[in-house]
Amino acid sequence: MIRIAVVGTGYVGLVTGACLADFGNRVVCVDVDRAKIARLLEGAIPFYEPGLKELVDRNRQNGRLRFDHDVAGAVRAAQVIFCAVGTPPLPDGSADLSAVFAVGRIVAANLGGGYKVVVQKSTAPVGTARALWGRLRRAAPGGQVDVASNPEFLREGAAIETFMRPDRVVIGAETARSARLLREIYRPLYLIETPMVVTGLETAELIKYASNAFLATKISFINEMANLCEAVGADVQTVAKAMGLDGRIGRKFLHAGPGYGGSCFPKDTSAMARFARRHGERVRLVEATIAVNRAQHQRMVRKIETALGGVRGKRIAVLGLAFKPETDDLRAAPALAIIDGLLRRGAKVTAHDPVAMDNARALPVGRRIQFAADAYAAATGADAAVIVTEWNPYRRLDLKRLARELRRPVLFDLRNVYEPADAERAGLAYHGVGRGAGPAAGAAKAPRAAKATRAAKATRAARATPATRARAPRRSPAAKRARKR
Ligand code: NAD
Repeated sequence: MIRIAVVGTGYVGLVTGACLADFGNRVVCVDVDRAKIARLLEGAIPFYEPGLKELVDRNRQNGRLRFDHDVAGAVRAAQVIFCAVGTPPLPDGSADLSAVFAVGRIVAANLGGGYKVVVQKSTAPVGTARALWGRLRRAAPGGQVDVASNPEFLREGAAIETFMRPDRVVIGAETARSARLLREIYRPLYLIETPMVVTGLETAELIKYASNAFLATKISFINEMANLCEAVGADVQTVAKAMGLDGRIGRKFLHAGPGYGGSCFPKDTSAMARFARRHGERVRLVEATIAVNRAQHQRMVRKIETALGGVRGKRIAVLGLAFKPETDDLRAAPALAIIDGLLRRGAKVTAHDPVAMDNARALPVGRRIQFAADAYAAATGADAAVIVTEWNPYRRLDLKRLARELRRPVLFDLRNVYEPADAERAGLAYHGVGRGAGPAAGAAKAPRAAKATRAAKATRAARATPATRARAPRRSPAAKRARKR
């Protein structure tokens, strides 16, 4: 049984600790946040992640997993130290490495008791692991310490599944001894034939950034296509589907929407752009991806403002706050940028999220909005409903009821969850992302059913205001033709 200390019990550290304990290792998870450790000792999980409580409880009961706030003690007793502390963005976009090097200092001061490997799991710019190794070697001239890089690819909301059955494990290890230990730790994944990429430190670190930057680029790409679809009268859902059928492209991460968010893509793309420049290179595609994403958040605000003929004094129901479903993580969530934009323009916001409302209440923006018990309560008396996060409950809303609850039946479906025609049939004026035309959108633009009259009126009323006329983008000839069809 390998003795492991996991430093940092956030999303990555806690999942890593619980999963490595489940693999049969003896794990202690430590954190400088004493309150967090106290909650964990009481059996609470400090954030929402499906299945994590059961995994933690099981491994605490069988004695393989424990929690402590004594980082130095845990480091002293461990053979392998996983560093899973945060690397948040600094104001200039680069990664704040202070926590990583703080862990390094604790390790340096506690190197007695035989050989140790520090495994850098936090996402940190290329060169961080080698810099950490240099510092530790100076503290232990006898060479009793190695540093490896083992970037994490888990996905919040499916963290256990993606840790236990990853697409690949990347190990940056430059000594046979450290590589052997890491292989041993991940042996259960070898047994299920998980591809293992064993490489050098810099390559391992760059794999993480390159992967996140590529996924973010795919999202920004399809969002630009969505915007183009709106201008030319095409349907991005069909464009994305047909593109994704090409095996070289693949269908994943081709969902048009309000732009990406979360604790990784925004900060990792910014950090990559910064460290590339520091090394004398530009990653122009990544820089463009970042700019497109920021613009997409703001475009969503303008979309709402334009369709409603201004939002000042209007109440908007925002459905979904977390940056994606099945998490309560609000870091860089698009909903926050959109709400901020709406509030700045004088709107009032009532929000609902299945699990992230407590976290939202603790943020400055949380004090400026109201919260509702469910989607319908949020919509009651509102001038529009906006789906920002595609939580399952919002995928199967009773649209007729939603239309009845709203003061004006207008739905902004920023995740393209619904068919425009279905929403129109329920009496809602529908606004998706990139749904310029196509049979479904065409039907939506010309609702036939009597029930759709309210929706059509709501759309016309909104469009008729001078504010809207002033802001409404000119329609291209192609879009006009598509609307006539
Ligand atoms: P987090 O903010 O949820 O957790 C970090 C934890 O580290 C906190 O509990 C904090 O108290 C603790 N910490 C900070 N300094 C410490 C110190 N000196 N000693 C001990 N504990 C300390 O962060 P996270 O989301 O778990 O991310 C951790 C790292 O993993 C980041 O580099 C992130 O980019 C990367 N990552 C995150 C995800 C994800 O989905 N969240 C996925 C892959 C990689």
